Amino acid sequence: MKDLLPKGVRVQGERGIAFVIAGPSGAGKSSVISALLSRDPRLVFSVSATTRPRRPDELHGRDYYFLSEEEFDRLIAQGELLEWTTYQGYRYGTPKAEVVDRLKDGLDVVLNVEVHGARAIRAAGLGFPVVLIFLVPPSWEELVRRVRSRGTESEEALAERLRIARAEIQCIPEFDYLVVNDALPEAVARVEAIIQAERMRIIRCA
Ligand code: ADP
Ligand code: 5GP
Repeated sequence: MKDLLPKGVRVQGERGIAFVIAGPSGAGKSSVISALLSRDPRLVFSVSATTRPRRPDELHGRDYYFLSEEEFDRLIAQGELLEWTTYQGYRYGTPKAEVVDRLKDGLDVVLNVEVHGARAIRAAGLGFPVVLIFLVPPSWEELVRRVRSRGTESEEALAERLRIARAEIQCIPEFDYLVVNDALPEAVARVEAIIQAERMRIIRCA
């Protein structure tokens, strides 16, 4: 296809794109991302570092790098994190290598971060396009039901997550896309449509 394009034109998907998925806890970010990864070999997940304890169904190196406070301090000191934040008393951060190296390899990287992280990744000046997607459940009631049904949080932690969720929703205007996760297959298809469209975006180079 390249040989028929006019000079100074390319499509965005020729190079790596970072797709950042944010949204309140319980929106379904992990569920949507895991479906996306299983369907598209060009997508890779940016595995974050965290000091939060591992949940029973989570794997070190697949879902997160579960680190001690000292190990996390070391990553910060060595400048290895693109961004990091504190959420509910635990630290979460994006290792530079997870994102930059893979974008350079021409892969598309999917990140699961909260809103400050999304903002920081866009501001980081990666030299690659960053697409911000905000995922919401169909209603507040459904959000509460989902976090509770996951069964990973105490009632106190759940209330704190919902308080953070209220604040996160106020950041929707900073995002490029809003996706409702009512039924999971539909939500996955919506995010896939965004990914396909962004890959086909025409870039006019100087
Ligand atoms: P997040 O990563 O945004 O915190 P999860 O992917 O862990 O959210 O989803 C929270 C809970 O809601 C999980 O128990 C998950 O199985 C469930 N869930 C996710 N998407 C849907 C959906 N479309 N309909 C019903 N339950 C869902
Ligand atoms: P959880 O404990 O539910 O896995 O994640 C809590 C919050 O931390 C979620 O909003 C998730 O998106 C966010 N998060 C996970 N990894 C990172 C990261 O590397 N950086 C930032 N800023 N947030 C993250």
